Amino acid sequence: MGSLDGNALAGVMHDIFARDMTTMGYKCTGCGRTGVLAETAVYMSGPGTVARCRDCDTILVMLTERHGTHCIDMPGLSQPVFPLA
Ligand SMILES: [Zn+2]
Repeated sequence: MGSLDGNALAGVMHDIFARDMTTMGYKCTGCGRTGVLAETAVYMSGPGTVARCRDCDTILVMLTERHGTHCIDMPGLSQPVFPLA
């Protein structure tokens, strides 16, 4: 299955952060690319959802749901800039 754009994360990220997170800024730890979450490559075919850097394929964000809770990991994402609203 191909990737979707980062807007595919909008619903679950809103559930977690109670705001639109597609405009969250970041810096990729793999290649230094900066951008916003909406620009990432999102894969939803696995047991969780993964957002990867479009330049170097580093995993930026992993989202899973387990026992009624959301688990989020941001292994390749640095300098997150959270939107105020
Ligand atoms: Zn990168």
